Amino acid sequence: MEEKKVTLIDSKAREWLEERGVSIDDIADLVYFLQVKYHPELDIETCKENVERVISKREVQNAILTGIQLDILAENNKLEEPLQSILARDESLYGVDEIIALSIVNVYGSIGFTNYGYIDKLKPGILEKLNDKNSGKCHTFLDDIVGAIAAAASSRLAHRLGTERDEML
Ligand SMILES: [Mg+2]
Repeated sequence: MEEKKVTLIDSKAREWLEERGVSIDDIADLVYFLQVKYHPELDIETCKENVERVISKREVQNAILTGIQLDILAENNKLEEPLQSILARDESLYGVDEIIALSIVNVYGSIGFTNYGYIDKLKPGILEKLNDKNSGKCHTFLDDIVGAIAAAASSRLAHRLGTERDEML
């Protein structure tokens, strides 16, 4: 029974990411973007592997499910005010989306924090798409969650490849 529930959480989290327009490849591209300057020999397969490992974590799956659910409710105008307007407008002072993202970033230590801040500022690749305010979609939570998964996967990869922390700063 417990095993079944775990599998359901894992598969739903992956399914919802895809349904919201985010593939593992998209996130792997972000990891590559963050890490290739430190590891010129880095290949996209390694990035994908690390993204997979991050998404396999239960706390990450919980963040994905919670964030996407709130995005969908906001998109369909199903939330109570004032939260409905706050999420639909992606108000910058709201901040709970970033807090949920940080729970992912911290899974692999403090390098993730630097990576997250950097990628959130530059918004490359899929993050730019998710931030397109004219898409009719609400990705208030998802953009931070995707950035956080990429940041956590980068930290995992950097730790594995033995990068000095100083190199990241
Ligand atoms: Mg956000």
